[in-house]
Amino acid sequence: MFALAQHYVEDLLDLLYPQLCAACGIHHPTRDSALCVTCQFELPRTDFHLFSENPMTRRLTGRFAFEAATAMFYFVKDTPVQYLLHRIKYQGRKEAALHLGRHYGRELKELPGYTTIDLVIPVPLHPTREHQRGYNQSAWLARGLAEGLGVPVHERGLSRVRKTETQTHKSRQQRLDNTVGAFVVQEQRRITGKHILLVDDVMTTGATLEACALSLLQLTDIKLSIVTLAIAQD
Ligand SMILES: [Zn+2]
Repeated sequence: MFALAQHYVEDLLDLLYPQLCAACGIHHPTRDSALCVTCQFELPRTDFHLFSENPMTRRLTGRFAFEAATAMFYFVKDTPVQYLLHRIKYQGRKEAALHLGRHYGRELKELPGYTTIDLVIPVPLHPTREHQRGYNQSAWLARGLAEGLGVPVHERGLSRVRKTETQTHKSRQQRLDNTVGAFVVQEQRRITGKHILLVDDVMTTGATLEACALSLLQLTDIKLSIVTLAIAQD
């Protein structure tokens, strides 16, 4: 009940006081964007999508089969990218994920590896966490990407059935053991035979993406590509 009232108050504040740039928090965003002009030009874009082999694909190769993988920004601590991710995740700026996804989806639409995507699926949060936060930031990013690509989104294509422990200070194998079996594919008939774009907010070790991918790849005739908003150092 409290959470509901809090969201209502936040929505009301947004109406009364239009929000500032989701990255710098200083300037006003431009139309149809959550970012100001400066941040639109100065945030550290990776441009990974222009290369079939890139640091993202190298981090994932050999772990599961995929067509293409990219991240929009480099995640660097104490920079506007970190503030952007923080505002999206913890301060209700879900519309920023939607806008960024929409713009990036339009850029990806004509590129090799992305033209054949049929359906977008976000990495899910555990239902308890989603209830606490009021939304899944990756689902908002997925929605934007789907709009930009001109394909449907299946927001509940994967569900998280088990909470995972903190991944830091674990080995790669421990992280994988910790996440495998945490995700279950829903409505398999909607997914089988499709090229799926799996979406998450930040790629760090890739353990979560790997666990989601391995669940999806158990279905027959699936192709998979990966997009995240940012990539952090492993
Ligand atoms: Zn800005």
